[in-house]
Amino acid sequence: DRLRLDGKVAYVTGGGQGIGRAFAHALGEAGAKVAVVDLVLAKAEVVAEELSLKGIKSMAMAADVSKPEDVQRILDAIVARWGTVHIACNNAGINMNSASEDTSLEEWDKTFNVNLRGLFLCCQAAGRIMLKQGYGKIINTASMASLIVPHPQKQLAYNASKAGVVKLTQTLGTEWIDRGVRVNCISPGIVDTPLIHSEGLKPLVQRWLTDIPAGKLAQVTDLQAAVVYLASEASDYMTGHNLAIEGGQSLW
Ligand code: NAD
Repeated sequence: DRLRLDGKVAYVTGGGQGIGRAFAHALGEAGAKVAVVDLVLAKAEVVAEELSLKGIKSMAMAADVSKPEDVQRILDAIVARWGTVHIACNNAGINMNSASEDTSLEEWDKTFNVNLRGLFLCCQAAGRIMLKQGYGKIINTASMASLIVPHPQKQLAYNASKAGVVKLTQTLGTEWIDRGVRVNCISPGIVDTPLIHSEGLKPLVQRWLTDIPAGKLAQVTDLQAAVVYLASEASDYMTGHNLAIEGGQSLW
């Protein structure tokens, strides 16, 4: 079965809740060992424990993906424990919210540091291991904000950073595929996770609902098969792709 991930080693950043947690479960259920990485160790530990209760080999690690020393430390730890890494799920991301004329440099930098610099660091560190072994699957989490400007706006730094995720994915995906490393991204629509219930985003969600042809928010379960597919050999001819799962929102 080309969708199985038995014997594969994966990590998921931002794995402590929301989409990353769902990705960790899906990869584990497909047979992979999963390192759950999060800024908050306690959250990663809870998810790693959920996985091990299902019989999935797992470990929990704290890292801030925007820090090169943290990223190197988690990859070293994964290699020390499980020998290598085959599947890198670079999912950690943040979403702050302000009118563009009021967006502070601090908000801009923080957003780009996590959403784009973090992705660069993770792709590069995991990619080096994968290139050496001639095999790897990198799955980045972008957003449908990479395809459209979701209405109402006030997401300048977020939208720009997610557009960057797509171009980074396309560039790495074409540069590395002839050495066995595929790089793709998933662009979720509005997913029912703790992120969208934050104070800043709550007022926007009601408005966003009217923009979704599907007429409802995505659940994390709507994304799980896609990450397994992109992590598996079944998608070996696919690279640099941005897979939108957004209930048709990018078409309206
Ligand atoms: P979330 O806020 O529910 O969870 C994100 C997790 O990432 C948290 O556990 C957090 O502790 C962790 N994290 C934050 N900063 C980190 C850092 N610097 N290093 C390591 N971990 C860090 O978010 P979510 O909704 O699950 O979103 C996950 C990804 O999906 C993000 O990249 C987000 O932009 C993207 N996304 C979400 C939606 C949505 O509607 N929820 C839509 C499109 C894209």
